[in-house]
Amino acid sequence: MITRKSRDEIKRMRHAGHIVALVHKKMKEVIEPGISTKELDSIAMGIIKENKAIPTFLGYHGFPGCICASINDEIVHGIPSENTILKEGDIIAVDVGATYGGMVGDSAWSYAVGKISDEKALLMKATEESLFAGIEKMRAGNVLDDISGAIEDVAHKYNMGIVRQYGGHGVGRAMHEDPFLFNYRVGDKTQIKSGYVIAIEPMLNLGGDDVKVLDDDWTVVTKDGKPSAHFEHTVLATDGEPILLTTLME
Ligand code: MG
Ligand code: MG
Repeated sequence: MITRKSRDEIKRMRHAGHIVALVHKKMKEVIEPGISTKELDSIAMGIIKENKAIPTFLGYHGFPGCICASINDEIVHGIPSENTILKEGDIIAVDVGATYGGMVGDSAWSYAVGKISDEKALLMKATEESLFAGIEKMRAGNVLDDISGAIEDVAHKYNMGIVRQYGGHGVGRAMHEDPFLFNYRVGDKTQIKSGYVIAIEPMLNLGGDDVKVLDDDWTVVTKDGKPSAHFEHTVLATDGEPILLTTLME
């Protein structure tokens, strides 16, 4: 069942989303060669706690971090570690959730570590563009397939692979609520209503679509070892413009 969020719930989600955006602002500043993903996790934890929120990911199905840190061919669910040190030329996707007043904000962003290759830069550009193409369709009266199709079209325009097994989701009192949102057309004609909130999150690959899960049972990587990028915002549908909940509040 897809729920429409009340004004009060949206207010709390906006606050949660602001905290998530504060984490990303900091990530952009501190991500550079030599920093470990464990240090990134500690920084994120500090910001979330300082703002009286709860790190949504920590302990979720036993996940040991408050961010997912996924480097190069890692797509999602990378576990922060003091042994994982960022190097010049890497790309890293940081995914973070914060719960404030019982409501969740969820956003992921891919970052360049120092100077990256042109093909990695294009992958990041394509994935970010596909996110915003999807967001544009998050309007009352559209259907879920409009969002999925907009993401797919951008992926095809740049000839990028699309991760099929993971996708966007409703978000609110729980991190994962109905509906599941595919990043390619599946013919889902579910109508979007004002008050729906969906975390839209394309994951695109420089190579093929196929993925596998590593022996740690968390980290999802591309099967062909090619890089992957991930961008995500929590988005509210209204009768007018879509509203991003995971940006900084003025
Ligand atoms: Mg996320
Ligand atoms: Mg998500």
